[in-house]
Amino acid sequence: MTEEKIEFKAEVSKVLDIVIHSLYSNKEIFLRELISNASDASDKLRYALLLHPELASKTSEFKIILTPDKQNKTLTITDNGIGMNKEDLINHLGTIARSGSAEFIKSLTGDKQKDMALIGQFGVGFYSAFMVADKVTVKTKKAGDEKGYIWVSSGAESFTIEEDDSLPIGTSIILSLKSEDEEFLEPIRLRHLVRQYSDHISIPIILKEGAKEETINSASALWTRPKSEITTEQYKDFYQSVSHAFDEPWMTMHYKAEGTIDYTALLFVPTKPPFNLFQPDRKSNLQLYVNRVFISDDLPELMPFFLRFMTGVIDTNDLPLNVSREMLQKTPVMQKIKKGIVKRILNELKKRAEDKEDYKKFWESFGIVFKEGLYEPIDERKEVADLCRFNHTADENLISFDEYIAGMKEGQENIYYLTGTNIESLKNNPQLEGFAARGVNVLLLTDPIDEFWIQTYTEHNGKKIISVMHAGSDLEKIKLENEPNEQPIDKEKEKLLINRIKETLKESVKDVQVTDRLTKSPFALITPSGMMSLNLERLMKAHGQQIAMNSDRILEINPRHEVIHKLAEMLENKEMNDKVNDAILVLFDQTLIAEGEPLKDPAAFSKRLTSFVLSGLA
Ligand code: ADP
Ligand code: MG
Repeated sequence: MTEEKIEFKAEVSKVLDIVIHSLYSNKEIFLRELISNASDASDKLRYALLLHPELASKTSEFKIILTPDKQNKTLTITDNGIGMNKEDLINHLGTIARSGSAEFIKSLTGDKQKDMALIGQFGVGFYSAFMVADKVTVKTKKAGDEKGYIWVSSGAESFTIEEDDSLPIGTSIILSLKSEDEEFLEPIRLRHLVRQYSDHISIPIILKEGAKEETINSASALWTRPKSEITTEQYKDFYQSVSHAFDEPWMTMHYKAEGTIDYTALLFVPTKPPFNLFQPDRKSNLQLYVNRVFISDDLPELMPFFLRFMTGVIDTNDLPLNVSREMLQKTPVMQKIKKGIVKRILNELKKRAEDKEDYKKFWESFGIVFKEGLYEPIDERKEVADLCRFNHTADENLISFDEYIAGMKEGQENIYYLTGTNIESLKNNPQLEGFAARGVNVLLLTDPIDEFWIQTYTEHNGKKIISVMHAGSDLEKIKLENEPNEQPIDKEKEKLLINRIKETLKESVKDVQVTDRLTKSPFALITPSGMMSLNLERLMKAHGQQIAMNSDRILEINPRHEVIHKLAEMLENKEMNDKVNDAILVLFDQTLIAEGEPLKDPAAFSKRLTSFVLSGLA
């Protein structure tokens, strides 16, 4: 058969270009990627043999062979795994396998270390071969097929495919090394790299020098070895290889569960959030093995969504080897393992939370995702809540619900919070004045997710969790730290003033009422309880949702404020009518600005304000 020339998909060329030209600071990882593919291929064939035992006659003991050839300057990585047919070659080595390269290219940061980490995660692992090779030849034959193929590319726009039926089952990747990369022909270098990146690969990796063959990895699944025999370094390397990451694990859990279900778990919490943590299709990097045979890494039923940053391996003997997708979804075994690991993870985190500085690192990377556990339908919400940490008004440290409760004032019944987009502007929110005056701490919630969990997790250890906006008579029960200097305006004047404000502001607010929560500001806006908060309204607008603004707001006024006293007085003088109205409009617009809201008529606001400034200067 003649050679066929096929163009790479446009995105592949782009990725190849990046891989070849800008990501070479850590190019040794090409070996880890190719060995990982070889090992995956063996896992796939082992699994296929369960369903098609007739294939067994043509396969042998699984192994991966590295052959450096100094004469021809080639490094060959050979496996006797599943192999590829022509379609596989075109689909897997001609396009970008996983989430698509558009996203990959978008996520590139320019920081080489980070960009390198992306390569593996995006399934461009194979293309990393072009970091060290100017030509890559893939000789492969798929188990069960008669036809074999040779794929060749120099990493530019195209590759060629040619049939060769004499090939054995499995795949050989032949790298024609660039002259500056001949170090990868050195046995010492190869031994070292395999030990560092691929030691845990569960089949033998053999270095072949002439007639000499030497197994250079431990070839036993790391999680099956006793804890005491595994070094921190080995755990780290394993973590980096299962999650294609470059950071250290922040937490490592390795245990064997025995009971109704037996399983071994080797789980990690990363230090840094993976780039795709917030993509809706993000899966945890969790691999399921049955008796050391790889089954699947697409396991939404094994880890709740809020723990999707976890990576690692679960190995159990309590499932049949030929377990199907449907069965994985239905079997109670998965549910039980999930329950078990969630419990363990939360327990482990609880221990780590005792060291606040250390726990803060975890919280900064994953808190925003972890909080989703407060509204995910799980039994462990309380335990999740115990592990949540928050910013608050009392000091700069993060606190837990329990710490908040321990610091509650006499007469305080509830846990109070305020939501918004950033801590600094929240701290200046006039709504907090009455709390500050009573020494009452308030949780400051600035993640979009906060707007959602506060609607489902509404009570902690018997204390209601409520918005400062909805604090009313409950706040009055708490003593002020200092008695206010000003008396409130009298009830008669209050009524007149409220009516006037309503007339002036018309539909801009739903109601006007006096409040005890303000000490420094004359006005503030709230949303009645049960309504969408101002912050949520803004978030939804920012995401393109059409919602009517300014709908059900209530304007609160501070009856002790100097400005309110003044306005109440001025009401008695008819000549001052226009000035009072202008003052109300300016104060209202100012309140909107403080809330971060757009003004209906900024020009009119600015005109009125200028005239007030002028009269003040006169
Ligand atoms: P990933 O391994 O994340 O899927 P890669 O770029 O590393 O992405 O590999 C792309 C695909 O090419 C693999 O999913 C697999 O289907 C195929 N492949 C690569 N190497 C081999 C191999 N040695 N044997 C069989 N298939 C392979
Ligand atoms: Mg791969």
